[in-house]
Amino acid sequence: MKKLEVKCPQCNKKFNYYSSEFRPFCCERCRLIDFGQWMSESYTVPAHKLSEEEIQSLEQLVHEKNKDENDSY
Ligand SMILES: [Zn+2]
Repeated sequence: MKKLEVKCPQCNKKFNYYSSEFRPFCCERCRLIDFGQWMSESYTVPAHKLSEEEIQSLEQLVHEKNKDENDSY
């Protein structure tokens, strides 16, 4: 059997690359931890970042709405 000693990117433990079913991780646990981190990172990234133009048009809408409310008094 081939042998290649590598470090697990998750826990830094040395293991034989060819003996792990979960490579590049040493075990299922490390793979799941890494996958969990990847998932949580992707959730914290905003799906859509507003451009300067979009922010300005939103501010304009709010401003106009406030003006209308003031006028009605
Ligand atoms: Zn590991």
